[in-house]
Amino acid sequence: MSPLGHAWLVGAGPGDPSWITVAGLESLRHAEVVLYDRLAPPELLDEAPADALRINAGKSPGCQALTQDEINAALVEHGLAGKRVVRLKGGDPYVFGRGGEEAVALSEAGIPCTVIPGITSAIAGLNAGGIPITHRGVAVSFAVVTGHEDPTKPEAQANWQHLATATDTLVVLMGVGNLDAISEALIAGGRDASTPAALIQQAATPDQRVVTAPLSEIAETAHTENIQSPALFVVGDVVSLREQIDPQRLGPLAGKRVLVTRSRQQASTLVERLRTEGARPLVLPTIETRRRAEPAAVANAAHKLRKGRYKWVAFTSAIAVNAFLDLLAEQQADARAFAGARICAIGNATAQALASRGLIADVVPDKATGEAAAAAIVAIGGLDNEPVLLPRAEGAHPDLLAGLEAAGASVDDLTLYLSAAPANPPPEVLATIRAGAVDVATFTSSSTVKNLAQILGGDLSSLSNSIIACIGPTTAVTATELGLAPDVVATDHSVQGLLTALRAHLWEQAATAAGAEASS
Ligand code: SAH
Repeated sequence: MSPLGHAWLVGAGPGDPSWITVAGLESLRHAEVVLYDRLAPPELLDEAPADALRINAGKSPGCQALTQDEINAALVEHGLAGKRVVRLKGGDPYVFGRGGEEAVALSEAGIPCTVIPGITSAIAGLNAGGIPITHRGVAVSFAVVTGHEDPTKPEAQANWQHLATATDTLVVLMGVGNLDAISEALIAGGRDASTPAALIQQAATPDQRVVTAPLSEIAETAHTENIQSPALFVVGDVVSLREQIDPQRLGPLAGKRVLVTRSRQQASTLVERLRTEGARPLVLPTIETRRRAEPAAVANAAHKLRKGRYKWVAFTSAIAVNAFLDLLAEQQADARAFAGARICAIGNATAQALASRGLIADVVPDKATGEAAAAAIVAIGGLDNEPVLLPRAEGAHPDLLAGLEAAGASVDDLTLYLSAAPANPPPEVLATIRAGAVDVATFTSSSTVKNLAQILGGDLSSLSNSIIACIGPTTAVTATELGLAPDVVATDHSVQGLLTALRAHLWEQAATAAGAEASS
């Protein structure tokens, strides 16, 4: 008999992928099979190992949903096959998620199962829309109910008559299709027709929309505004608090759709930082690195390095560092190969990448230019005919090579990788850009601007109303050349510096807008 597997029923939280619990993420990172729902944030699937089997169990247009029985059967089948199976569900698994049925099926089959709670949309979705579910002096109770059933049907299980006045705040899930009947039933049950109500569509995602109206008008407002599922319907005086505590009023980045154009590997720090401030990052990697190394040239460079023939090795990027050390490892060599060489790192990120591979750069020039690097190296020791290794990207800026050669070095120019625009950009992000719906576009290098222009067919005009934020002057020059008008140019050329400059710009903009409002 094959060893018994283990299942995790994981609540992924609503919308924002960073709202999953630590335990949920941990289980996902070790999954062999992931069955995911339509409402689980799709970005989370990237957290599962690359070779994990991903099964779409949710309904989406053009894709046949699995029935609940089929989902239960799939969980049991993979569990019995000895797999680590993660069932990833939107919100909390036990809040209208049919998680209970799945737990029962696993238990009956004797498959060990861990249930990891999630943040439910019923509470956090309201939060994302600027509505606290309780508030001192306003609401001391709430109820969460499914609006899936038509309240006018006699067999309906929810007692709208009672629910109408039972609690201060009422949150209805799956209610979009029955809004007319539900609001009428609530008013008939004694809820004041003027009670503030709201609908929050796609809460905590870049597409979040919030509409508000008195209870008697909310259904009509939803129709005019074309509110679609998934949405939360909330009734109660807490809805009015939104005017004061909408996250968008509290933090300059909250709710903003921020385009991140870095490579997938590099995007994560910026994406995480943006999320912690309530922004909604849209990730469109514009750079993909593909290995482009001549094995003979690599073997030769590795050999010379181990023999101590290079006096200097100069790295121009973190990617070059990791690519070269990975290639060395394939030749059974490690950091000791650098024993006879000094190391120059261009840029702090390059120095950090070296440090994380156990190598401390001997010099990090003040400026990230070839001239400065050559000068810094020369200042430490002459370069007369000294062999220097320069591992780098195909088509990299010729500046450093020229600078080193002008200083008399004999440079081994070792091509390791090619940076190019990825072939398949995510269509939903492209659609958001083309719709002109990006609030802020961030660029962390000239290539990110150039490659985005290429991906968009040479036309960046759909960003003309967005705030353009560049990591430094070189990137800003490229952006200007391609028709953008940079609003933010960081003075500290790091992710941290970019965020600080962006935040300051947004505050200033908000203050100007508030001033204009006050004087009008
Ligand atoms: N287990 C989930 C709820 C599943 S029922 C949870 O705890 O959140 C599905 C309903 O949840 C949807 O019809 C919608 O009403 C609500 N919902 C889930 N995620 C949502 C989101 N991001 N925005 C708005 N509503 C959401």
